[in-house]
Amino acid sequence: MGIRRPTRRQFVQLAAAAFSGGLLGTFSGCGREQADSSGPAGSPPSECDDTVGLSEEQRQARDAVEYVSVTVVEGQRCDNCDFWEPPSRPDACGGCEVVEGPIAAPGYCALWVAMS
Ligand code: SF4
Repeated sequence: MGIRRPTRRQFVQLAAAAFSGGLLGTFSGCGREQADSSGPAGSPPSECDDTVGLSEEQRQARDAVEYVSVTVVEGQRCDNCDFWEPPSRPDACGGCEVVEGPIAAPGYCALWVAMS
């Protein structure tokens, strides 16, 4: 018997409550894929930090979950998170089911959940 994983809906509702103001209600439907302009070897494409196409509310929500394009937690990265949406090309940004905007494979945020 282990910890029961919440449904995606329950997770987003809990997260929205935790981050007050319901910011996570705007996180649906990301998965932006961007063109390549990779930086130095091993770094994510620079477009993965580009939030120009997002609304101010979406940018604030992204900041609220402390998204970063290079993880700060060993072993926890966007591309091993259950919410990860991989790009169709390895050199492009991926997406996320709960955080809006382009997402870098080596990125991380406070909503990270181990891939099931
Ligand atoms: S770590 Fe955060 S931004 Fe990255 S895929 Fe998971 S929920 Fe999305």
